[in-house]
Amino acid sequence: MGSQVNYKITVCIKQVPDTENLTSDAMKEDGTVNRSALPAIVNPEDLNALELALSVKDRWGAKVTVMTMGPPSAAEALRQTLFRGADDVVLLTDRKFAASDTLATSYILSSAIKKMQSPDIVMCGRQAIDGDTAQIGPQLADKLDIPQITYTEAILALTPRTIKAQRGFTLGYEIVRCPLPALLTVTESANEPRPPSAKRLLAFRHAQCASEKQKGGIGNKNPDISIPEWTAQDIGCDLERCGGSGSPTKVRKIESVQLVSEDHKEVPPTDEALSDLMLELMNEHTIE
Ligand SMILES: Cc1cc2nc3c(=O)[nH]c(=O)nc-3n(C[C@H](O)[C@H](O)[C@H](O)COP(=O)(O)OP(=O)(O)OC[C@H]3O[C@@H](n4cnc5c(N)ncnc54)[C@H](O)[C@@H]3O)c2cc1C
Repeated sequence: MGSQVNYKITVCIKQVPDTENLTSDAMKEDGTVNRSALPAIVNPEDLNALELALSVKDRWGAKVTVMTMGPPSAAEALRQTLFRGADDVVLLTDRKFAASDTLATSYILSSAIKKMQSPDIVMCGRQAIDGDTAQIGPQLADKLDIPQITYTEAILALTPRTIKAQRGFTLGYEIVRCPLPALLTVTESANEPRPPSAKRLLAFRHAQCASEKQKGGIGNKNPDISIPEWTAQDIGCDLERCGGSGSPTKVRKIESVQLVSEDHKEVPPTDEALSDLMLELMNEHTIE
């Protein structure tokens, strides 16, 4: 156990449709996701990122702020992180943010982070289960001009100046060190996210944002517990770089691809046969 430093950590989370529990009306006729037909959850690897941040807090001392960009209903995802141990949450919400691609999203997130008091560590999930690009973490590190450690599965050492982390891959791992501040993208193999705590659930279940209050609220009996909302103006965004005007990505066509196996090969369970198969797959560049 090191001395308590109180690192400042910002965790970026995304509210996503639960694509593991698909119903028949999950897709619209044009091939886009019918978000209203699917339950909304916190993107699974973002809970791994939150857990990693909370483990830093437990071990070294930290203040964990969770941030999401989304519609007012994304406040529910923030409540879920308060139930698990987040110290602070922020909702970035503005009509000007709608239709943002990854370039615009990372710009908006970076503008909000610049408004915060320079976090020591920014954490993201590796990838969102709906957009699936895994671009936000790396783009955000680039815009903040800080080093990044992707595929993080453990923090091995931390000082106010440096971080040492383990990056996990299918075929092994890599240990790297970089100066702080740094951005980490976190994989599902990092940890088992803690469940919501009953005590925190009772404390924060009525935390709500101004937009929810305007719509009649969710029964907030404690006006002190509110979820701050930041607009494009609050974080000093250039509107040309937000939403549709800041998004060069254009989705021309969406196709549903069904992979059908055409061939199969049986291999006897001997060392020689397996090594021949590995060689063959490497020669075909199926594996590297
Ligand atoms: C042309 C176009 C229009 C789009 N319009 C919309 C729209 O109107 N509304 C909409 O919701 N999406 C929209 N999207 C999708 C949106 O751009 C992406 O979902 C978003 O940029 C994140 O990309 P991703 O889902 O691939 O995340 P990834 O890059 O896979 O996410 C990696 C990690 O980044 C973090 N992260 C990702 N998104 C957020 C977020 N919003 N807030 C905080 N952290 C985050 C999380 O930690 C996540 O695990 C649009 C996309 C395109 C191409």
